[in-house]
Amino acid sequence: MKKIRSVFTVKRKEFLTPNFIRVVFEMTNEQCKILANIREGSNNKIFIPPKGVELIYFPNKGVSLNSELVATVRTYTNRKIDLVKKELTIDFATHANVSPASAWAMYAKIGDPLGIAMKDTKRPLINKANHYLLVGDATAIPVIACILESLSADVCAKVILEVPTKDDEMIMCSMANVEIEWLHNYNPKKGSCLASKALAYQFENKNACNFVYCAAEYSTVKEVREYYRKTLNWATEMIYTCSYWKAGIAEGANGQVNHSLGR
Ligand SMILES: Cc1cc2nc3c(=O)[nH]c(=O)nc-3n(C[C@H](O)[C@H](O)[C@H](O)COP(=O)(O)OP(=O)(O)OC[C@H]3O[C@@H](n4cnc5c(N)ncnc54)[C@H](O)[C@@H]3O)c2cc1C
Repeated sequence: MKKIRSVFTVKRKEFLTPNFIRVVFEMTNEQCKILANIREGSNNKIFIPPKGVELIYFPNKGVSLNSELVATVRTYTNRKIDLVKKELTIDFATHANVSPASAWAMYAKIGDPLGIAMKDTKRPLINKANHYLLVGDATAIPVIACILESLSADVCAKVILEVPTKDDEMIMCSMANVEIEWLHNYNPKKGSCLASKALAYQFENKNACNFVYCAAEYSTVKEVREYYRKTLNWATEMIYTCSYWKAGIAEGANGQVNHSLGR
């Protein structure tokens, strides 16, 4: 699996909703070439330079770097890759103007650089099924939007999404038969009822090919995963969960590893 890393430049920025910032990066011909096989909805690592540092220094094994130059690394989603317009889009759910990634998106200006790395993989976003339950908080809206766009007309999806306010609800596009339930929670660090809503959901046909996808804060993901895997004894290929952040802990701090509750 080839590793891709490159410095991208902000082309434009817009507020999709009050708490959601879309940043569109311009791509050179060379960047279009290396991203040609990357699937929308796949994840990336962003490298945020320290304040006042113009260059992005990617880590290199065996090469030590002055700590003042070290970029902060966070995980995001390749929301759109448009090889015709030569644009890469990342949507940031903002939560604080002091957290590195959230703050970077809030203050980003046209022309700002950002290091972005990803793996050149064709791994599907989700397993094939007839009926999906997709559960996510604001951070998972980019990936769930990509999943919905990829579903065919003959499948059904129940989607439970949590956003800070009613004004943060968005239009989702899909050919599938989709029902979306929006939950509002301005302070997800203090808890969420996303998991209890997910656990209360009843699949119409328990013997059909059903699939649960959950990406959100750690505690939500843990509860959903334990319910389906341990209480209902679902097989690993029927569920995908991923902890996207953990309340009170910055990404990468205290050895926190995202994906710790993966398949
Ligand atoms: C595979 C993957 C894909 C992801 N894709 C996206 C994406 O496309 N868009 C997106 O917005 N996020 C996405 N995330 C989540 C994002 O990586 C985290 O929210 C990350 O912690 C943000 O970094 P930060 O520097 O802003 O905050 P950090 O420095 O990591 O955290 C600082 C503090 O803020 C808290 N915090 C972090 N995120 C949130 C939040 N959303 N709400 C409230 N408090 C929070 C932490 O608990 C901590 O206390 C993804 C995560 C993963 C694992």
